[in-house]
Amino acid sequence: MFIPYEEFARRTDEIRARMTAACRLAGRDPLGVELLAVTKTHPPAAVEYAARYGLRAVGENRVQEGVEKRAQSTAAIAWELIGHLQSNKAGLAARHFDRVQSVDSMKLVLQLDRAAAELGKTLPILLQVNAGNDPAKHGVDPAGAPPLLEAALAGKNLRVDGLMTIAPLSTDPEVARRTFASLRLLRDQLATRFGTPLRELSMGMSGDLAEAVAAGSTIVRVGTALFGARE
Ligand SMILES: *Cc1c(COP(=O)(O)O)cnc(C)c1O
Repeated sequence: MFIPYEEFARRTDEIRARMTAACRLAGRDPLGVELLAVTKTHPPAAVEYAARYGLRAVGENRVQEGVEKRAQSTAAIAWELIGHLQSNKAGLAARHFDRVQSVDSMKLVLQLDRAAAELGKTLPILLQVNAGNDPAKHGVDPAGAPPLLEAALAGKNLRVDGLMTIAPLSTDPEVARRTFASLRLLRDQLATRFGTPLRELSMGMSGDLAEAVAAGSTIVRVGTALFGARE
């Protein structure tokens, strides 16, 4: 059985308190970090909970699952794709998501731009970078980020909001710290070089959100700590 709303609200309060504490430690304004509720594998009720609590958006990692859940939902909330996107699903993603955080190839940039043009919309995106050089993770290599950004900025129907990363799985918090610091540095370098703010740094999940906030995260993507373990 899925958790009751009160349990979700209690957990969300607790995560927000952790985010605020991490902001205080880092001398940051807590309003500068958003909590994205990751509803993947959870029932449509998870999305309704997030909306009822007042969160701006939910994250789904699979296109098909997100599309189906959205069709069943009346929640006034934004939908973000955070999982790997195959280019043959680019059109579907452009149509049904409000932002795609997992853009990591030239092919995807071109297909999303074309799909957005056909839909007559501007699609906000983040570039996913494999900042931890983890062979198990998707994302463009840091060295490939400048040409990818250049192509994305040239896409007339794309709006590049920033960068996203997933830290390698590790019990050593230093691994996450290093990954987040390198994404932050890359963002700062790209913002200067291309003259664009790249305001969003989507980094940090249930297990490493404090490290991410310390390194400048503006979006933490949290699933397990809000909704419980996935099957
Ligand atoms: C599942 C997922 C999350 C949330 O992870 P939790 O550990 O459950 O908080 C965050 N980001 C991405 C890209 C995910 O796929």
